[in-house]
Amino acid sequence: MRVSPATTSHSTSTLFTVVSSGCQVGSMPAVVQTQTVALNRLSELFKRLGSTGAKILSVTPVGEDLHPVATAASAPSPEAKPVTQTPTPKTKAHADVPVNTYKPKNPFIGTVTDNYSLLKDGAIGRVQHITFDLSDADPELNYLEGQSIGIIPEGEDAKGKPHKMRLYSIASTRHGDDMGDNTVSLCVRQLEYKNEAGEQIYGVCSTYLCDLEPGTKVKITGPVGKEMLLPDDEDANIIMLATGTGIAPMRTYIRRMFENRERETNGWTFRGKAWLFMGAPKTANLLYDEDFNSYQEKYPDNFRYTKAISREQQNTKGGRMYIQDRVLEHADEIFSMIENPKTYIYLCGLRGMEPGIDEAMTAAAAAKGMDWSEMRPQLKKAHRWNVETY
Ligand SMILES: Cc1cc2nc3c(=O)[nH]c(=O)nc-3n(C[C@H](O)[C@H](O)[C@H](O)COP(=O)(O)OP(=O)(O)OC[C@H]3O[C@@H](n4cnc5c(N)ncnc54)[C@H](O)[C@@H]3O)c2cc1C
Repeated sequence: MRVSPATTSHSTSTLFTVVSSGCQVGSMPAVVQTQTVALNRLSELFKRLGSTGAKILSVTPVGEDLHPVATAASAPSPEAKPVTQTPTPKTKAHADVPVNTYKPKNPFIGTVTDNYSLLKDGAIGRVQHITFDLSDADPELNYLEGQSIGIIPEGEDAKGKPHKMRLYSIASTRHGDDMGDNTVSLCVRQLEYKNEAGEQIYGVCSTYLCDLEPGTKVKITGPVGKEMLLPDDEDANIIMLATGTGIAPMRTYIRRMFENRERETNGWTFRGKAWLFMGAPKTANLLYDEDFNSYQEKYPDNFRYTKAISREQQNTKGGRMYIQDRVLEHADEIFSMIENPKTYIYLCGLRGMEPGIDEAMTAAAAAKGMDWSEMRPQLKKAHRWNVETY
């Protein structure tokens, strides 16, 4: 429970927001209740909550809470009064998230500053880290961790029409990789597959991006997306499940949490637990691996990094080790974390990863006497289950 130290310096009429959770499904705290009471009614409320078995999660003076559900001016009376009966909302106020500053009809023309491979020798395929200069953008192209931008590739499609925009998850924090506040980076895999006739096909936009030379001008739209935003709560726990380029949003969260220059300047000090599950076919395909290893070494109490390398590791049944096998392996710890309403889960990568994760969560929940099909919509409603697959 977080109790603001400020409680001792307030008058008896000062209002406090008390957040508590009750058990609804199995042992999952599905309902979070927020109540506003005067200081002289706090102990009465604590007793009442205690007698119902509710767990007190935080006590914050109204006005000091990041997003108070009632303000001193709007609270009708200092009586203990339920204000909401909804699951914990994400603390980010979505209204101030930049969206669609640049649309496909009027894109921003950015300049490529960097384009390098993220893969090691022996890796499968091609994945590039690509950075664009945004300094000439007017209006500014601001974005937040978890958002995406659109890229319009040069050229025309088979019908002679200009190519359509494709979305890419942003891989840099809002400050950019160089902390200059005027770049955006992407992590792009070149799409390649064989068609029915056995011909090798390369994706239009991903190939365009992977081949870009520094100095090239590129049409950029966005930013878009509110699904994958991080909560503002510095004490939140963040479980991240990523495969391939699904690591892009996770990299932004993890840099925001643990990268030295970010911590020094971003005014946000992460104190929760972040746990990254990363799936890749080979060690050589792990993206940003050294960075994550070094954050884990430096912040062992706050960052955990679990890899599933399908072609090199075996699951308990002797098959290939996929990310869902790691989820099953750590089911107990994951579900203990989920019982805490401050825990948020993010899933990103190819759409094909979803059924496997769902199966693993179903089995893991069942092992704890819970029903994942009931839990998932509740978590989603509370913005605690966030998925972006493509
Ligand atoms: C929100 C969001 C975020 C994304 N983030 C990223 C990211 O961070 N990094 C990234 O690399 N990509 C990302 N993508 C995917 C990206 O938008 C493009 O879809 C991807 O790069 C392919 O585009 P393309 O132009 O290269 O392929 P296209 O030339 O458009 O070809 C794609 C088409 O090829 C066909 N196709 C694809 N695979 C096969 C197959 N195996 N067999 C037969 N046909 C096939 C399908 O018809 C498909 O629609 C994201 C997508 C979304 C929606």
